[in-house]
Amino acid sequence: MKKHNFNAGPSVLPQYTLEETAKAIFDYAGTGMSLLEVSHRGKEFEATMSETVQMFKELLNIPENYSVLFLGGGASLQFCMVPYNLMNKKAAYLVTGEWATKAHKEAKLFGEAVEVASSKDKNFSYIPKNYVIPQDAEYFHITTNNTIYGTEIRYDMDSPIPLIADMSSDILSRPVDISKYVMIYGGAQKNFAPAGVTFVIIRNDMINKVSRQIPTMLNYETHIKNNSMFNTPPCFAIFAGLQTLKWLKNLGGVAEMEKINLKKANLLYDAIDNSKIFVGTTAKEDRSIMNVCFVMKEQYKPLEEEFSKFASSKGMVGIKGHRSVGGFRASLYNALPLESVQALVDCMNEFEKMKA
Ligand SMILES: *Cc1c(COP(=O)(O)O)cnc(C)c1O
Repeated sequence: MKKHNFNAGPSVLPQYTLEETAKAIFDYAGTGMSLLEVSHRGKEFEATMSETVQMFKELLNIPENYSVLFLGGGASLQFCMVPYNLMNKKAAYLVTGEWATKAHKEAKLFGEAVEVASSKDKNFSYIPKNYVIPQDAEYFHITTNNTIYGTEIRYDMDSPIPLIADMSSDILSRPVDISKYVMIYGGAQKNFAPAGVTFVIIRNDMINKVSRQIPTMLNYETHIKNNSMFNTPPCFAIFAGLQTLKWLKNLGGVAEMEKINLKKANLLYDAIDNSKIFVGTTAKEDRSIMNVCFVMKEQYKPLEEEFSKFASSKGMVGIKGHRSVGGFRASLYNALPLESVQALVDCMNEFEKMKA
């Protein structure tokens, strides 16, 4: 049976990415060797790395004065690298979910990490508005997509101080005005590549901002100067990521991708809004188009387990909600086809006909 992969991360990748990567595992760039066996200093991998950086820049329209880095450690390491490199005394954080909370926690190790606003009072089901960003903070950190609770800041805000965004789960899902940010980072395993690589887009003047000593590997300057090749980069994940970028370019780029993503999200949100038994968990104006969270209405709650089983019998994978929200979460990342969303909606409608 065809599986519909709604996993939150690692998650669905384009068929093209899987096929091209599988081929390269047996013969990489005509070397007669596996992608898994070659030197990262060889001319083939050097070419892969620079092509990946180039295509990432092209697809996101990244200005000249920014570097694109591919590092290890996950988005979680960036939670500490950001304040380590960029915060002398004070930084500001918008706390919109669990990942934002973790980023904020790390920053407290380095100075005064101000919580500008938080939506914790309503289980992170909305994006706070009308907060004041302290002018004397060195940067303002946001998490554009709240992967766990399903809210999203789907626009590029104006910030009076340098803006930094964790875009782990919505990078490449829409066009972004990169010039509004000094830095954007994320783990690749949601919308770009398999696990193991972290992307960092950083404005080149953001190095040497602090007086403290920074260990070599944790210093952005090291990676900018060495084109992400100071040490062995995650070659496999980078190669696979490049295939995803090629797939995305061929599809028409991020503007086209956003149209498809909106179509997918609207299809599912409409089904939820018109349902007798399901209900969304987030404020409508802040809904994520990447992670759609919903539960069963109070009187139907006891049926959640039964729906889970019904859905998996129809090929749905990964729709169980995060333990902190319960219910269901369908992740509709770039590579998830519209047909999979339609299959889930059909499944919900069919279940509702039986029960309501
Ligand atoms: C998944 C995720 C992370 C964590 O990424 P790792 O690469 O596992 O460290 C951080 N932030 C957001 C928004 C995420 O979705």
